[in-house]
Amino acid sequence: MLLCGSDATADKSTSDSDTDAPFRAKALEIYRTSVEMRTVEGRGLVTKLAQYLASEFEKAGFLSEDIHVLRMDGTAALVVRYRGDATSGKKPVSISAHMDVVDARRDEWERDPFTLVEESGYFYGRGVDDNKLGLTAVVSGFLRLKSEGWVPKRDLIVVLSGDEETSMRSTRALVSEYRDLIDSEFVLNADAGGAILPEDGGRPASFSIQAAEKTYATWELTVTNPGGHSSRPRKDNAIYDLARALTTIEGHEFAVNHNEITLSYFRSTGSNTGGDLGTAMLRFAEDPRDKWAAKVLRSNSSHAGTIGTTCVPTMLRGGHAENALPQTASVTVNCRIFPGESVAAIEAKLREVVSDDRVQFELLHSPTESEASPLREDVLNALRKAVDTKYPDLPIIPSMSSFGTDGKHFRSVGIPSYGVNGMYGKVSDNFAHGLNERILVETFYGNLVHWYVLLKEIGG
Ligand SMILES: [Zn+2]
Repeated sequence: MLLCGSDATADKSTSDSDTDAPFRAKALEIYRTSVEMRTVEGRGLVTKLAQYLASEFEKAGFLSEDIHVLRMDGTAALVVRYRGDATSGKKPVSISAHMDVVDARRDEWERDPFTLVEESGYFYGRGVDDNKLGLTAVVSGFLRLKSEGWVPKRDLIVVLSGDEETSMRSTRALVSEYRDLIDSEFVLNADAGGAILPEDGGRPASFSIQAAEKTYATWELTVTNPGGHSSRPRKDNAIYDLARALTTIEGHEFAVNHNEITLSYFRSTGSNTGGDLGTAMLRFAEDPRDKWAAKVLRSNSSHAGTIGTTCVPTMLRGGHAENALPQTASVTVNCRIFPGESVAAIEAKLREVVSDDRVQFELLHSPTESEASPLREDVLNALRKAVDTKYPDLPIIPSMSSFGTDGKHFRSVGIPSYGVNGMYGKVSDNFAHGLNERILVETFYGNLVHWYVLLKEIGG
């Protein structure tokens, strides 16, 4: 992979695969070792991965006092500080990724999910994308920069969580109990960001930087009833009562909302989209009060969630026997809440919409609310250089994701987070969390250069 497009690397114009070869080989070794450790919940292997990576940092010359393997609740986090010379006078920047993966079963996969397989231009294995791709690029970038004797002008901190795919307790602990270790001006997250490659090859349309996440919240709505024999129906019935509540929720539309990120997203995407949808994006970006635009966007499942909070029933249960009146009926309602709106306000709205005291609401889990991260010129400029190594001048578009990452925990304590991984892939190749997860070999090596340039820019 050629290094180009960065001032920081301009003097390496002769750089070619020979110069890069040892770094590529080291990165592949880290990638293979990480993928082949089955770092799923309950096996204790996240701690082993953290220790392995810690030993690599130590071998590369990082001081042991700057390397922290933090054991917590059956998993672990790893925090490593790359000491700068403090000449920029700026606070540190943290780089986050996660070490755990969603489990995968050998009998369901075509290849062993916990063996890194390279075949026909792809790497296969659980985590080759989510998130051992980002993790490897960040760790390898740190090791390479250290070996080159580079000293950043501010501290850079690698922050690897250990249970992002499940309870995210380690990330919560990192931003609370271990705040002094990870306190930073902002976070670059290697678990989000990237671009979609056209199916038939060629350049992607844009690079997406994740700057906000919706809040994930789930309620269980339950109606109980004394029940009785089904031959003697009562006026009230748990299933009918719950059905009425559901119908009111179906009919409710949460208020249209927007932020700098969604408007900028619609502005840039609208002109490439065409048709009514494209027009609606541009009109919404111009004036979010435009009712026609909101209606068109809301009717499109890919965009409905970008203009406000959405709630939808996902599971339904009720009754206990064919010939008995139901004593209980319940439904799971999953909401994706717009940044800046509170979980409590959404619950209050749902209660108001349902307006039936017999329907009990129970909030499941403990949602983390986070604001959108304000776009920053320094991050966008550094990312510009990194993206240029692969696709010069590719438009960079901020995005808000409906899925969750570690980023929201940093945002929730006031540390902005930006998903900036150099993940280039086709829609048809997206198998994260699913079967036969794969990534283009070219994307793996490209991402090493992406992070190398990005870290140098951010720390320079
Ligand atoms: Zn992930």
